[in-house]
Formats: sequence, C-alpha cells, structure tokens
Amino acid sequence: LGWLAVKVHPYFAPLLLFPLLLGLALAAALVCGLRVFSLAHRPTVWIGTLLASALVVFGQHYWSFHAARTEWANQQADVEKARRAFPEMANRMLPPPPADLVEFLATETDRGRELLGHRVRGAALWAWWGLEAALVCLAAALPVAWALRQPYCTRCRSWLVTSRRGHVSAAAAGELASLCGLSMTHESGAAEYRLATCRAGCSPSLFELSWPKAKQSHRAWLNAEERRAVAALLDRDDG
Ligand SMILES: [Zn+2]
Repeated sequence: LGWLAVKVHPYFAPLLLFPLLLGLALAAALVCGLRVFSLAHRPTVWIGTLLASALVVFGQHYWSFHAARTEWANQQADVEKARRAFPEMANRMLPPPPADLVEFLATETDRGRELLGHRVRGAALWAWWGLEAALVCLAAALPVAWALRQPYCTRCRSWLVTSRRGHVSAAAAGELASLCGLSMTHESGAAEYRLATCRAGCSPSLFELSWPKAKQSHRAWLNAEERRAVAALLDRDDG
C-alpha cells in the first residue's frame, strides 16, 4: 500500500485527503481480514490496525527513498552519456544519492516541501508528516471500530452473516412484528426483512424488519424456537 501510494502521489494527491484515502484503503483490507478470519479479539485487532498504519506510513517514506535512488541512478547514466559526448563536461558531477532512509529524510526536511504556498522545512515538516500519519491511522481505525461493533458469536467464533433477506406482505410484517415482540404503532405496508445468524447457529439470531419508505427499522434477537417460527412464517408468506 505504501508503494502504491508513492506511485499514485505524483498524479493525485489532494492535501490531507490523500492520507485519509490511504487510511480507508487500509481499513478496507483490515475489515475484509476480520470477516474472512473471523477475528474479533479487540486488543489484537487494535494493535494490528496500529501496526498496519505505521507500516503503511513507513512504507510510503521507504518507497519515496527507493524512488529517489532510482531517479539518481537514471540521472547518473545521463551524466555519463553526456560526459562521453562532451569531454569538456568531465568535471560535472551529481551530488551523491542518499545512503539510507535516515539520510534521505534529513535531506527531505532540509529541502522542505511546498504546502499551501509555503515551503515547510525541518521540525514543521516532521509535524506535518506526523499529522499525515495520524490521519492514516484515524481513517483506518473508524471502519475497523464499526466492523468490531457488528454482531459476533463468541461460542463458534464467527461473525453473524445475513442468512436470509427479502420482502414480506403487510399482513406478514404485522405477524412477524408481534412474534418478535416488536412494538410498532405507525408502520404499515409491505416491509423488508433480514435474518442474520452465526456460522453454527448457536447464538441468538438477529432479525431486522424495516420500512425503507418510512425510514423505520426494528431489530429483535431471536432464540432457536423463535427463529423457527419466523422462518415458517416467512416460508408461508413466500408461498
Ligand atoms: Zn455461533
């Protein structure tokens, strides 16, 4: 991701938005990881998110350093060519390339960076990099926090996934609501439903009944018996 960021940066790099987008890209990968590997152990997830953000930020600087060295090598080749064609240029030399990442970062902070019409150098540039790093971390953390709030079954260690969804008639919606103990006073008409269960079906299932037009949504937790009753009602309504 850090490498990709360095490749994209010269073409598309809106100020402050770029680290946020980078963080979101990282978050997408992390959230996929949580779902695929059924990972919900909070300390592990948060440490992982922090490390991954740090790695992306470090990667960005590392690949910039790498790109700078490659560019230096290309320029050096050009200088050699020119020297062969015009021997009088023999004493023209390129300054040596940065030897390591630390030296590269030191040169970068000396040279500074153009930000909002000001040339930012030294400690101010370090502070700016710190801000960018914080934004990457924040943009990565928010979707991860959302993913961790999703229902999870601690017994079979899996995230609850939608096992069934669809539309029900107004009559069935009313029946479902009373079956699930949902208190509804003003909703009527056909509704949408969603049933989410864990992998082994060992924990209560989440049942959601919603009326998108009225922007109303109700949730209930169903035990195995209630789930069977709901499924039977849904089968009847489908048929
Ligand atoms: Zn389970």
